Amino acid sequence: AGRKVLIIYAHQEPKSLNGSLKNVAVEELGKQGCSVTVSDLYAMQFEPRATRNDIVGCLHNSEEFNYGVEAREAYKRGDLSDDLIEEQKKVQEADLLIFQFPLYWFSMPAIMKGWMDRVLVEGFAHKFPDCYSSGLLKNKLALFSFTTGGSKEMYTKGGISGDIRYILWPMQHGIMHYCGVKVLAPHICFAPEYVSEENRKEMLLVWAQRLKTLWKEEPINCSPEWYFK
Ligand code: FAD
Ligand code: ZN
Repeated sequence: AGRKVLIIYAHQEPKSLNGSLKNVAVEELGKQGCSVTVSDLYAMQFEPRATRNDIVGCLHNSEEFNYGVEAREAYKRGDLSDDLIEEQKKVQEADLLIFQFPLYWFSMPAIMKGWMDRVLVEGFAHKFPDCYSSGLLKNKLALFSFTTGGSKEMYTKGGISGDIRYILWPMQHGIMHYCGVKVLAPHICFAPEYVSEENRKEMLLVWAQRLKTLWKEEPINCSPEWYFK
């Protein structure tokens, strides 16, 4: 109770399973007394491109554009574009970030990757050597909740797509852990399009059930071994 959750949600269709999973989280966490904010990226028409437009006013180096440097300097001056300031505020206030999305090409949809690229600015989320356990977003939790086209069997070590953990490495370790965020076990709904209506209802129930005891969970041991051992 009293905890703050930010759901970063990427699906075009409210009636999709991702839409339903998002609604289940809003409802269940709300029931617990958490305050829940949703960044509905497609509905917001969130800009995924990291460009000059993210910096308001003058550039640090107008001769040669370097996005990382310019974003860092603009963050310091309070000169990032309004949409970024808004998202950073939501992240700053949140105890838990839930990413809800369909798997696209072994990764997150471009609009969500754009959110990562643009929101997690140096100086806000990390500042080398303040990364991993000393990343600037420490004391926060993240959870990747996603759906796939492929089946669970395909996403095993011996399966044709390989262990699903290989896919989680860039997102969980390379992004969230890098920024100091602790990672809860992922929540994966395999192949919702190819199972029965009944099975899909069951998937939503399992998610709601997990959320009831979410705050008792320990983060995973997010190290190379978790992914590749
Ligand atoms: P939906 O089609 O929305 O959901 C399935 C069904 O659930 C729908 O009929 C919907 O009506 C129903 N439903 C919604 N709510 C409820 C409810 N409350 N109760 C019961 N039923 C409900 N897959 C991979 O495995 N690997 C990849 O690399 C990959 N790359 C992709 C790249 C692209 C560009 C695209 C477009 C797809 C890719 N996919 C991949 C497939 C993709 O991951 C799946 O299509 C997606 O995860 C399915 O989720 P959804 O929410 O879109 O499903
Ligand atoms: Zn890690």
